[in-house]
Amino acid sequence: MASIYLHIPFCKKRCIYCDFVSSTHDEMKRPYLETLCRELETRRDYLQNKTVETVYFGGGTPSQLNVEEFEKIFHALSAFALRPAPEITMEANPDDLTATYVDSIRHLPFNRVSVGVQSFDDKELKFLHRRHTAETAAKAVERLQEKGFTNIGIDLMYGLPEQNEIGWRDTLRKAKSLSVRHISAYHLTYEENAPLYALLQHGQVRPAEEETSVRLFEILTEEMADAGFEHYEISNFALPGYRSKHNTSYWNGTHYLGVGAAAHSYNGRSRQWNVSSIAKYIESQTPENVEIIDEPTAYNDFILTRLRTREGVDLAKPTVPFGKEKTDYCLRQAQKYIENQCLERDGMRLRLTRKGIFVSDGIIRDLFFSA
Ligand code: SF4
Repeated sequence: MASIYLHIPFCKKRCIYCDFVSSTHDEMKRPYLETLCRELETRRDYLQNKTVETVYFGGGTPSQLNVEEFEKIFHALSAFALRPAPEITMEANPDDLTATYVDSIRHLPFNRVSVGVQSFDDKELKFLHRRHTAETAAKAVERLQEKGFTNIGIDLMYGLPEQNEIGWRDTLRKAKSLSVRHISAYHLTYEENAPLYALLQHGQVRPAEEETSVRLFEILTEEMADAGFEHYEISNFALPGYRSKHNTSYWNGTHYLGVGAAAHSYNGRSRQWNVSSIAKYIESQTPENVEIIDEPTAYNDFILTRLRTREGVDLAKPTVPFGKEKTDYCLRQAQKYIENQCLERDGMRLRLTRKGIFVSDGIIRDLFFSA
């Protein structure tokens, strides 16, 4: 079992909070896509003919590509051992999803679309420098549904400056009314390389108070549970049968090939990642960084990925082998969190409680092993 991630680093306009590798320079698109297809060809053996269950086009903004560009990529992907009807996701920006565009991509093998909505409040969208309105976003989702896409997810953002409970509930209720199958909700972060960080440094924005963030998260979990969504990972909610198979594969330790600038790959023994500059990637596509996965790294990866999920960490079933010493270490480190009810233990399984979710970063850090 394996997965493929393709990074499409082009955006029509940059959002104020974003530090992803992406560019508004369209002229790089053609050489970039040629390099990406070449990378798929040269790294064909990376997955050792394992069956590819999921393919994910992320960005950037994959919906900035046209049908011909996608067709070239799908042609290059056909050299891999794709299972019949693999999950193939495309990330899309609402204002790219015009009727003509959605019609044009309908015959491509995409069977899942993840729409970057972020908010259904126009003031918030403007603040984030998104290029769509709430109405455009809702129409985009409806258009996808009209054209036969059933597996649609949307991304939302909370913890925005001045966001209040009423506004957030409105956004969530609008999201629920659209009959989407999957909702991801992330707290706004202030990334050092994003323009929003400079505003923060100059005192021009005030981050949400911790108490507000906690309350917004509570509202999120209440509203999602009320609509029958399963909270299957800290930031991810799905209707039964609609978890993202691609993201789940990362958390399960599945091998994956990542192509494109800044894309990461993992084959169980090592992790590789490509240069994060688009221009340098076009010059030389070879992954420039390699990290060998030794036993402590395997253990830390296991904790980091599994603890965020609803199933939690099952120390009896590590996805990659590590010794009893690490298992004992983990249980020792976990004890204080079990006592203060941030973690619950069931046999050899550890799970975050609702209280633990709010301090999950600290718990994960504490369970990490450092030599
Ligand atoms: S958030 Fe998405 S659309 Fe906005 S600049 Fe970043 S990659 Fe592009």
